[in-house]
Amino acid sequence: MHTHDEDLTRQVMDHLRHRMALPEPPLGRPGDHAELGVALKGAIGAGPRPASEVLRTYAEDIEPAVISCDHPAFLAFIPGAPTKAAALFDMIVSGSSLHGVSWLEASGAIAAENQVLRLFADLAGLPEGAGGCFVSGGSAGNLSALVVARDTGRRRLGLTGHAPVRIAVSDQVHSSVGNTLRILGIDALVIPTEDHRLTGEAVRIALAAAEHDGGAPVVAVVATAGTTNAGILDDLAGVAAQARARDLWFHVDAAYGGGGLFVPELRARMAGIEHADSLVIDPHKWMFAPFDCGALLYRDPRLAQAVHTQDASYLDAIHGDGAGADDLEWNPSDYAYHLTRRPRGLPLWFSLAVHGTDAYRDAVARGVRLAQYTARLAERTDGLELLREPELSVVLIRRTGWQPRDYYAWSKRLLAAGTAFVTPTVWEGETVVRLAFLHPGLTEETVEGILDSLHTEDAAH
Ligand SMILES: *Cc1c(COP(=O)(O)O)cnc(C)c1O
Repeated sequence: MHTHDEDLTRQVMDHLRHRMALPEPPLGRPGDHAELGVALKGAIGAGPRPASEVLRTYAEDIEPAVISCDHPAFLAFIPGAPTKAAALFDMIVSGSSLHGVSWLEASGAIAAENQVLRLFADLAGLPEGAGGCFVSGGSAGNLSALVVARDTGRRRLGLTGHAPVRIAVSDQVHSSVGNTLRILGIDALVIPTEDHRLTGEAVRIALAAAEHDGGAPVVAVVATAGTTNAGILDDLAGVAAQARARDLWFHVDAAYGGGGLFVPELRARMAGIEHADSLVIDPHKWMFAPFDCGALLYRDPRLAQAVHTQDASYLDAIHGDGAGADDLEWNPSDYAYHLTRRPRGLPLWFSLAVHGTDAYRDAVARGVRLAQYTARLAERTDGLELLREPELSVVLIRRTGWQPRDYYAWSKRLLAAGTAFVTPTVWEGETVVRLAFLHPGLTEETVEGILDSLHTEDAAH
C-alpha cells in the first residue's frame, strides 16, 4: 500500500485534471439515499479491487451526488470557490503528509502560514505581536477564541476557574457562537440590534443594565463583520470603544466578511476591527481557499498560549528543551483547541504568492459588484422587491405574492435544471430569496436568467 503505483497515480491525477479543466463543474444534485446504498454496496471488502473500478464508483455515483460549491452559480449559504493555484497546492499539502502541529516538525510550513496571518493582521491593523493559527473554520475559530476570552476575563476579575461569566453577543450573531457558548457553559447577554446591526450605543446600554440584573459579570463582547444571512457589518468602532472602556475582550467574527479587508472601501467600513483582541476570518469563504481553512488571530497570542497549550510528557519535545522555549518557535497547537492539524494555510499562501493581493482585491470586489448589479435589476423588475441595500455580497429579494413553498419549489427547479443553486432564507419572519455572490466568474447573464425565472414563474400549487 505504500509503494508508488504509477497506474493508480495516473488515474487519480487524470480524474482531477479533467475536473479542474472544465470551464465550470457540473452543478450536481442531492443524492438518493437508496441509490447511493446500492452503488456503495460491497465497495469495501476483505480483499483488493482494481482502483479503476473504485474510481468509477466515485466518478459515476459519488461525485454527481455532491453539489459543486465552486460552480459560479452556487449562490446558496456561503459558496467556496478556490483559485486553481490554491486547490492544486492543497494536493501537495495532503500528498506530502505535512503535519502542522509544531515548529519542531513543520517550521517551514508554519513560517509560510504565519506570513499569511501577518498579511491579515496588517490588513486588519493588528499590532506587530499579533498572531495565531489556521483552524478548520469559523466555528473552530470562534470556539478557540472565546475560551481565551472567558479564561482571560476570569483572571482579570480575580475569579476562580469555574466562576460563571457572560459574553455579550447581538441577536444576529452566527449560530456557531451560540453553540460555542453552550459548549463553554456560558450564558449569553443578548443585545438587540437596530436594523440587524449591533451598535456601540446598544452595547453601552446593555452593559450598563447587566451590572444590575443579578447575572454573572460580562467578560467579552462579540461583533460580526458581515452577518452570514445578509452581509451586515456591525458598528465595530462603536462596539470596540465600549469593550475597551470596560476592559472587556473584543472578539470580531469576520468569517464571511473578512475577504472585504482586501478592498479599501470595505476595509474603511470595517473601521474598529483593528481593536479586536481576537479575529476570525474564513479564507475558505471569501478568500478563495479550499476547504477547510479558517484563520484565527489574537492581539496578544500569549494569552491564547496560556489557555490552549497542551501538557503531556510526549509533547515536551515541541515546547523547547526545558530551558525555556525559544520565543520565535511557533506552535500552532498552542493557539486553538486542536493538536494534530494540516497546515491548511499553505494552499492560500501559494495562491497569494502566485497571484498577488491585487488579484484578491479585484476578485472580492467583483462579488460586491455582482450583488449591486443584482440589487438594481431586482428593483427594476416587476414582482420583485429588494429587501435591503447589500453591504457586502448577499442580496435578499421578495417575490411578491409567493408563499414559502413557492420559493422552495423554485429553488428545486433551478437546481434540477442545472442552472443555479439558490436556497431561500428567512428575513424578518418571512421566507425570501437569498443570493450569496462569491465566484468572480459568474456572469451578469446568469444573474439575469435567475431573476427572470423568479419573475416569470408562477407560484406552485
Ligand atoms: C460561516 C460562518 C461561521 C462558521 O464558519 P465555519 O467555517 O462554517 O465553521 C461563523 N461566523 C460567520 C459570520 C460565518 O459566516
